[in-house]
Amino acid sequence: MPTYIVLLGPPGAGKGTQAEIISETLQLVHISSGDIFRENLKKQTELGKLAQGFMNRGELVPDDVTIGMIAERLRRPDCANGALLDGFPRTPAQANALAEMLAGWKARVQCVPYIYVPAQVLIERLSGRWTCRAQGHIYHEKFNPPVTAGICDDDGSELYQREDDKPATVENRIRVYLEQTSPLIEYYRNQGLLAEVDGTLPINQVTELLMAAIQKGQ
Ligand code: ADP
Ligand code: AMP
Repeated sequence: MPTYIVLLGPPGAGKGTQAEIISETLQLVHISSGDIFRENLKKQTELGKLAQGFMNRGELVPDDVTIGMIAERLRRPDCANGALLDGFPRTPAQANALAEMLAGWKARVQCVPYIYVPAQVLIERLSGRWTCRAQGHIYHEKFNPPVTAGICDDDGSELYQREDDKPATVENRIRVYLEQTSPLIEYYRNQGLLAEVDGTLPINQVTELLMAAIQKGQ
C-alpha cells in the first residue's frame, strides 16, 4: 500500500526544509508544487508562464491547473510507493481532488502533519530565506546558513532570494494562506489525520516531532 503524507502549514513554516530531510528517511518522493511551478518558470513552459503572475502576486495558481499538474506528477513511476506532498493541497477543492485521485488507486492520505508557526516568525524566516538555483535546497542566513555565503552546500550552485519572499508579497501570501488554506486544518482534523507539530523549535527538533507523528499516524 503506497504512503501519502501531506505537510500542512503557512509559507515559511519549514515544510520544504523538513521534506528535504524526512523524504530520505521515509524513502518517499518529495513533491513540492511550488518547486514544480518554479522549474516550469525557469524553463518558460506554458505552465510556467501561466503560473508566473499568480506567484509574483503571492496568489494561488487556479485549482484546475494545479490539480492537473499534481495528478500528472503522482502518476509517474517514481511515486509507486507514494509521496510526501509539500504545498499541495492548498484549498478544499485541491484536497477533495487528491482524495478522489487516491481513492481511484485504492489509496488515501495517511497522515497530515501541521507545522504551526506564528505570523511574525514567518516574516523573519522568509525575509532571510536563500534558495539554491539548481535544486531548490533551502537555507536561512541566520537560522540555517550555508558554509559559504551565497553557495549551496549540497551542489555548489548559487543561492538566490525568491521574488515572492519580498515583504509586500509575503504579507499577501500569509493572507491567502489564512483565507484559502487554513480551512484544511479543520478538514483534516475532522478526518482524524491531523498531527500538530510546533514549528518554532530548532530544525532538528521539528524533524524528531514530525517523524514521531508520522510513525504514529501510519
Ligand atoms: P516552507 O516550505 O514551509 O515555506 P521553508 O522550509 O522554506 O518553509 O523554511 C522557511 C525559512 O525558514 C527557510 O529560510 C528555512 O531555512 C527556515 N527554517 C525552516 N525551519 C526552521 C526552524 N525550525 N527554525 C528556524 N528557521 C527555520
Ligand atoms: P511555495 O513554494 O509552496 O511557497 O509556493 C510558491 C507559489 O507557488 C505560491 O505562492 C503559489 O503562487 C504557487 N503554488 C504552490 N503550490 C500551490 C498550490 N497547491 N495551489 C496553488 N498555487 C500554488
